[in-house]
Parts: sequence; structure tokens; C-alpha cells
Amino acid sequence: MIFLEDKYWTLDYTQFDPKLEKTTEALCTIGNGYMGSRGAFEESISSETHYPGTYIAGVYNRLDSEIGGKTIDNEDLVNCPDWTAITFKIDNDPWFAIADGEVLDYHKQLNFKHGLLIRKIRFKDNKGRISTIESTRFVCMPDAHYCCIRYQVTPLNYSGKLTLRSALAGNIINEGVERYRQLNSLHLAHLESGHDDKGIYLQVETTESKIKIAEAAVHQLLLNGAPADRLEDNYNAEDRYVARECVLEVKENDCIQLDKLVSVYTSIDKEVADPAAAAKLAVESNPVFDDLLQAHKKEWDALWQKANVEIEGDEETARIIRFHSYHLLISASQHNLDIDASIPARGLHGEAYRGHIFWDDLFVLPFFNLHFPEIARSLIMYRYRRLDKARQNAKVEGYTGAMYPWQSGTDGREETQTLHLNPISGEWGDDYSRLQRHSSLAIAHDIWNYYIASDDIDFLSQNGAEMLFEIARFWVSLISYNEKTGRYEIHGVMGPDEFHEKQPGADTGGLKDNAYSNMMTVWLIKTCLQIRHILPRENLLQLEKKIGCTDKEYEQWRAITRKIHIAIKDDIISQFDGFLDLKELDWERYKKEYANIGRMDRILKAEGLSPDDYQLSKQADLLMLFYMLPFEEVKALCKELGYPMDKAMLKKNYEYYCARTSHGSTLSFIVHAHVAALMGEVSTALDWFNISLKADIEDVQGGTTKEGIHAGLMGGTIMLVLGAFAGLSTHGKTLSINPHLPEKWKKVAFTVSFRGVSYYLKVYSDRIIAKINDTKEETAEITVKGKEYQIGKEEVCIKYEKE
Ligand code: BGC
Repeated sequence: MIFLEDKYWTLDYTQFDPKLEKTTEALCTIGNGYMGSRGAFEESISSETHYPGTYIAGVYNRLDSEIGGKTIDNEDLVNCPDWTAITFKIDNDPWFAIADGEVLDYHKQLNFKHGLLIRKIRFKDNKGRISTIESTRFVCMPDAHYCCIRYQVTPLNYSGKLTLRSALAGNIINEGVERYRQLNSLHLAHLESGHDDKGIYLQVETTESKIKIAEAAVHQLLLNGAPADRLEDNYNAEDRYVARECVLEVKENDCIQLDKLVSVYTSIDKEVADPAAAAKLAVESNPVFDDLLQAHKKEWDALWQKANVEIEGDEETARIIRFHSYHLLISASQHNLDIDASIPARGLHGEAYRGHIFWDDLFVLPFFNLHFPEIARSLIMYRYRRLDKARQNAKVEGYTGAMYPWQSGTDGREETQTLHLNPISGEWGDDYSRLQRHSSLAIAHDIWNYYIASDDIDFLSQNGAEMLFEIARFWVSLISYNEKTGRYEIHGVMGPDEFHEKQPGADTGGLKDNAYSNMMTVWLIKTCLQIRHILPRENLLQLEKKIGCTDKEYEQWRAITRKIHIAIKDDIISQFDGFLDLKELDWERYKKEYANIGRMDRILKAEGLSPDDYQLSKQADLLMLFYMLPFEEVKALCKELGYPMDKAMLKKNYEYYCARTSHGSTLSFIVHAHVAALMGEVSTALDWFNISLKADIEDVQGGTTKEGIHAGLMGGTIMLVLGAFAGLSTHGKTLSINPHLPEKWKKVAFTVSFRGVSYYLKVYSDRIIAKINDTKEETAEITVKGKEYQIGKEEVCIKYEKE
């Protein structure tokens, strides 16, 4: 296989660094939404250097563990049998191990144009024998169930016996995250393994969720392009493992090529009664590597037709944006239309946060809204299917409506742990993060944004409105009325800043009046009231009947939108009531003492202090409000509540919180970039944006990327290009654009889909060139710098004053 020469579509490593390898594995993950496989060497098994991992969307398993005398249970995204395993040995020597010799040349390339992982190394073993080892692999985009590897070995200075071994390896555990090592992690039980005249197969089952996972593999072995004669062909079937070993006589410069075609099925796949039979059947016809590769490439070409963003003048940024888009495209795809799952915070790329689904979707969904709305809808449907569970979650805690969990897995129960291991102190402590009830608000926002961007009234009528009304009800049930102040209050929740879990000195978790949550509650209530005028009357009546809404309830809702409490002092909105009275932190001291102060909570706790006592935030909290809603909308909400808001006040708040935020979450960079752009400070926005671009590709958090990419961060950067810089807004009924391009960017060009119409836009600092792509519509409206224009299928140029 040939490396792609176009460096703006690849991620390349030309040196092998064992310390970095796990990070490159996460960054070189290949996938198709149905599954993702880390870019670990075919020859590797889990070790200090490598961590092969394959994750299938929705395949979770629950295990109990004993921690500090307590039994806790965890649901994990399961590391599924490794289909990539291939290795070789020369004569009777040990199997290839990169540590047992010298790497002479090295090149590992993720080609994100076509979803391929390619590797070529020249390797001298301890006996001086030099081999070239090449591999190309992909997880097939057009057919969810196929994955393929072409593996080649060329002996460069020796002849002899070469044994190739290809395995399906389910004899693994979840051990990708060091912090979780004390937890039980054996998720797979053996069902069957063996071979038939076609190939090898393996079926395992998750121990508690009883999901069957079946893999079958066929091999085509060539020697210098012709079917290879084997000295021996051996099979080895064990517990959760099966392998085929072929022994060949090879000469110097022979090319030995093994094409491994694998099919993967599970018992949660739609319309699959017997995954083992389905897996065997899929490879029975001996699918051909090159045929599957062609189809795969074609599908990727089609994806990029919709998702590519060109940035003239800053190709490197465009490259990383493509790289980020690629990772979202392999985390959810058209296959999700048949999959009951959403995107884990760390993708199908690793085991951090146990593969749970967080509010992070809110940073990711806009990408799908604008390019693949049907995928966005399917991701939101994951939440709809768990609406009853959310209702139950609320009820159990004494609330009404629907309370979605902070961390979600299979059935929508709260998956957040109640204990957290502090890696600095090595101690387990209470974890209140489940009190981040704002996850429900984020879901509400996702639903509304999807509706606005797609105009999918059926979805709103059948599913969206029900979730929105039930989430609103939940928040209303959290609210109490303070007779003294005449204001409504919300107690006992946490905001996005995870460092503050309780009011100083309190015994129970939760804060009073987190400004972000309170304001978003008002937004949600108002949105629901607005939806009453949007839904077809019949649908509204059905909904109101189903969930029993009354006029009295709506009256209470309206009162809340006029009287919720936000603590404000000297124009600074208190992140929560009491935050502004907390002690200031000696930031300079900590910055000097620690290389990375992102996780100030762990540092303080290890020093015997509590982050609850200080004015510090892990990430944007109040500022999230301005990420979620257009500034004018925030201003209007504030006005109705009787609070001030203008751009000067926004700036004051931005500066106040910026100075007190440690950015322990990559999401924080995105929000700060967005808010800086909102304030008109393009160069500050660009600084934040540049930090976020590097966050995963350079692993700025010092070691978190190896446990999985940060999907929210990746989605966020794409939206900064389209939103903050190219100035795209989808909040109204027409697509609107108000660009603020960074100096260096000459042009940003992209395709977006909005309310059923596909637009192609080229944005310059003094004009845009726009057209609509083939659709049923002949013309469409677009708002440029506040003025409406009509565009058609031919490009039109709309000029404006350069800023
Ligand atoms: C952040 C959360 C985020 C989670 C998963 C945490 O570090 O604080 O906001 O949802 O990571 O990405």
C-alpha cells in the first residue's frame, strides 16, 4: 500500500516512540460508527507500550468491584476481541517484538481522506535479520460488519521458515486506563472458537449484559503475488481465542502477503438472530480486500463531499479540522440509524470514562446537524428511548419529569461513580459529579438545535417535545420559592465546573443557584411554551394528554421565567450563589510548583484542602450560557428577569472567570474561544482555538488522549471554524452568516445542510460566494451581515465591507 502524499489529509509518525505509542494508537483509530479499533500494531498485545482495543457502539457490560470495603458497580464499554492480531516469526525464534531488535525505518500513517491506517517498518532483529513489515487496515464504511488488513513481510537479508499467525483474540480484559486497574475488568466469557474449511471464528459473550460478539476471519495468503504453498497450516482454538498459523519457506526479497478479512456481528445488531452464523456467512464468499477497499474509499469520498472544510491561507488548521471531522465520522455514521447508541465522550477510541455518554454530545451534534442531520436525529433518539428511565431517575430522587443521568450507558440509569480515585494522593474520595443535572439541559438544547437546523417537525411532535416538556418539568420540580426575596431558587445541583461540589462547610453535595443552570432552565421553559405554538394542534393535545400538562402548570412556568434568582455583584454573575465570597487561590504558586494545574481539584485535595473553598473553576461554567445561546437571547432573558446584561458586562465576566479557570477539561478552550469571538476579540478567540486544535493531536493534557480522543473538543473546533470565524448561525429560520475571519485565512469553504437545503459557501473577509446544491428547491434565503438575499443553483457573490 502506498502512503498518501497529500500531507493535509494525513497524520504521520516517522519515528517509533514507545512512550507515545498509546497516544498514537488512539489518534490512529479507524472505525465506521458501528465499531472503532485503536491503531495498535497488529503484532502487539496489551503492555506498557501498546493497547489494542476494539469497541462496538452500545456493547457495555456491568461488573461489581470491592473498593475500600464497599461494593461498587461499573458499566464499561467493552474491549471486544482483537480482530487485528497478526504476527510472524522466523524459523523457531520468538514471535516478532519491536523491543527485540532495532527499528531502521518507521512510518505510521493515518490517512483520514480514506479511513486507512498504514504502517511500514524496516526492522533488524537481534540476529541481524532485516525484514520490511507493512500493513494497511480499514474498518469498512459502507458495510458496518467488515474489517480488513493487508499484512506484508519481506525478508531483506535472509531465507528460511516464516510462520505467520493471525488470531481473533478475546482473551483480553479492559485495562486501557490505569486509574481503573483496581476494578474488575474481565468482561468476556467464552462461547465457541474454532475453524472450518473457510476460516477461523470466535464467539464470546459479555458476562452480565449477555451480549454475544462473534467474529469470523478468512485469509488469502500470497507469495510474490501467487497463492502461497504452505509447509504447515495449523489452527489453535482456546478459551476466547482462535488463531491460524501458516508456515512458509521464504527467500530473501520474497513478498509474503496476508489479506485478512474479518466480519463482526453482535446479538444487539438489528435483525441478527445468530451472530456467529451471520459472521461466518459474511466471509463465506471470500470477500476480496481490493473490492472492499474500493467501496470503502468511495464512501469516504462521499462523506467528505459533505464534511470537508477548506481553509485557504491556513492549510495546517484545515488539516486538523479534517482530522477532527474524521474522528467524529468514525464515531457515528449512517450505521447509527440502526444502532441504539450515542457517542461516548472519548469516542470508540479508548476506555476513559468507561465509554459513557455525557453532555459532550452538545459539542458534537452541531457537526452532524449541519452535515448529516439523519445521524444527529439517531443520536438524539438514544435519549428518547431512555425517556422512561429518565422519568424513573427523577421519581426515585423525589422529582417529577425526566432526569437524564450525568453519565449514561445501556439503560439510561445514572452510571456516575460515587467514589473517585485521586491519582495524585492515591486515595478514593466522594464523587458528587452526578449532581451535574445540567446534562438534561444540554440534551434539551440538542433537541431544539436539531429541530431548528432540520425543520423536522415530525421528530419534534413525536419525540422531541415530549423530552423537552419532561425535562422542563424536572427542573421546575427542583425549584423552590424564597418568600423573602420573591425569587425562585434551585438548590442541590452542580454546574459544569466539577471542582465545586458543595457549598463550603455543607455536608451534602450540590450548590445554590448555579447561574448557568438557572438561566438554561428559563430558556427551556420558554422554549416549551413556544413549542406549544409550533406543534400541530392535534399533536400538542396528544402530548399534553399523554403527560398531563395543565394550564396551572404553565402559569407556574411563566412565573419562573420572570423571577428566577441569579446572584450578581458589581456586574459579575456569581457562578453559583456564594462563589464570589470564596477565597482566592494563589495561582502563581501552583503554576510554579506543578507542570500542569488543569486538575487543581486533585492537587488541592492531595494537600488536604478543598476546591470548594476557592474561587476556581475546572472549566467554563457561567460562560457556557453564552456558548449555548445567542447573546441577544441571553440579554432578553436577563431583561425579563430584571437583571442587567450587555457586551461590557460579558467582557467583565469573561475576564473575571478566565483568571480563575484551570481548564482541566478540553471543553473549556472551546467555550472561551467562542465567547472571545462573541466579544469581537478575534485574535483572542484564535489563541483559544489554536490551543484546542492541539489538545488531542499534541495531547496537551499530558496523557489523557491515549485513553480516547475528546469528541466534544473535536466537534467544538469544527464549529468554531464555521460559527465563530466563518460566522455561520443557525438560530433563526434562515441560514445567517456574519464572518470574522482571522487575518491569515483568505477563504473558508464548506457545505452545510440547513432545513432540508444543502448550501455551498465560500467565505472571504469582504464577500461570500454562495449557491445551493442539488435539491428539490430552486432557491433559498440566506442572511449575510444582517441582510437577506436569495440564492440559487448558480454561484452568487455577495459583497460587504471588510472589517
Ligand atoms: C469534564 C466534563 C465532560 C467529561 C467528559 C470532564 O473532564 O469536566 O464536562 O463532560 O470530562 O468529557
